Amino acid sequence: MKQEIAKLVELDRQRTLLTHIGAVLGWDQETYLPEKGIEERSEQLSLIEGLAHEKAVDPQIGELLASAEAAAETAEDLSPEEAAYIKLTRREFDKETKLPSEFVMEYAKQASLSQAAWSQAKSANDFSLFAPHLETMIRMNKERAAYLDSGRKPYDVLLDLYEYGSTEASIAAVFSVMKKDLVALLDKIAGQPPVDDAFLHAPVSAEIQAKMSRYLMDAVGYDQKRGRLDTTAHPFTTTLGRDDVRITTRYVENYFPSSIFSTIHESGHALYEMNIDPHPDFRGTRLAEAVSMAVHESQSRMLENFVGRSRAFWEKHYPAIQAMAGEPLADVDVDRFVKAINKVERSLIRTEADEVTYGLHVIVRFELESAIMSGSLAVKDIPQAWNAKIKELLGLDVPNDRLGCLQDVHWSMGAFGYFPSYALGNLYAAQFWEVMQEQIPNLEQKISRGELGDMQQWLKVNVHSKGSLYLPGELLQKVTGKPLDPSCFARYLNKKFS
Ligand code: ZN
Repeated sequence: MKQEIAKLVELDRQRTLLTHIGAVLGWDQETYLPEKGIEERSEQLSLIEGLAHEKAVDPQIGELLASAEAAAETAEDLSPEEAAYIKLTRREFDKETKLPSEFVMEYAKQASLSQAAWSQAKSANDFSLFAPHLETMIRMNKERAAYLDSGRKPYDVLLDLYEYGSTEASIAAVFSVMKKDLVALLDKIAGQPPVDDAFLHAPVSAEIQAKMSRYLMDAVGYDQKRGRLDTTAHPFTTTLGRDDVRITTRYVENYFPSSIFSTIHESGHALYEMNIDPHPDFRGTRLAEAVSMAVHESQSRMLENFVGRSRAFWEKHYPAIQAMAGEPLADVDVDRFVKAINKVERSLIRTEADEVTYGLHVIVRFELESAIMSGSLAVKDIPQAWNAKIKELLGLDVPNDRLGCLQDVHWSMGAFGYFPSYALGNLYAAQFWEVMQEQIPNLEQKISRGELGDMQQWLKVNVHSKGSLYLPGELLQKVTGKPLDPSCFARYLNKKFS
């Protein structure tokens, strides 16, 4: 059986290499590709995706798996990594073999064109430029769901791709508790004196913001020799290789916190990717990939908010950022700064939302996706439905689609079912955070001295390094001793904000 596993690993590594080559093309499309290069780029991506898919459905894998599974039943020397790898490979092989190659290739091509169209539509504030592409991505995602499991609701099938085992009903149940907690806290905060954050809206040049970003990447432990920072319409992290995990950010001239918190957020994703290593024998395989998007978001949102918006973190780093900013922060002390970056206010942009209202932005998207996937919401009606949901949950009027339904990249990539990961990520983060506080003595003081080493080591050992060794729920249980418990997040927010 060891031989079969070794052969599976070898085939898997070739698939991973192709995926990473595709990531280079995708990263380039978002960062440096000239406008007219998009047509051939979409064909290049389609070809690479097709080749990676061919590798993933190689009939040899089916044969090797069958014999490894049979041998595993009686094997006594099977390691946890080997056992997990066989199960994971089975799950992924069964999934991939349900998708026809032509479909995978066409999907990659359309997703690439759709992302380019979204980017233009967003700059032009013109939903009609994006609408036909969105139509295609919705149709193709329904097709994808039908290929994978025609007996289930399409949205359930898609949610399961991002968070294994989740359904619309299970997420709705968690969100209804979360929503109640958030709204109650918002009401409490509404009675507090207003927070002045005008100085955060003073102009700070892109050059200075880039300098701040690089400083903060170092501060949180991102190894700039294993990645790089660039700018894009929507910040993201992408793994181009084991030692090449890149992040992007965006510079908003009149609101520099947008870039600094995006940079810290993406650094959180990158640290996870850089530290995955369940076992040297499984490097470059599926076992050495992140377990789920919610666990991924738990790492980025923990670094961005639990650490990056804490008083302790800025105790150490504020003087440097204050000096770089110059005039706008000259008369602002660290307490005013920390208050301002934690201002709770209903706002239009998800990525700039505070920790309390953030979950409501996710619920807006979750409810719309559900309607889109069930067929009750047509593309032409999305802008209006978006605005109505924002009014309902956040009480705001949306002045235009750029600040409304065109703000996020996800639907253009066809990532329907991704959004809940952000809110689940907050819940996971709070649960990890509680346990970490118990297990690392004086964590807050360490953070205030700029010593993040113990925290990084704890995350590496308990979460990052594990890769896909456990399912998300198993990981949570192993690390925290209990299943998902939304009350940890409510406790964290209440302690911080009231
Ligand atoms: Zn993220």
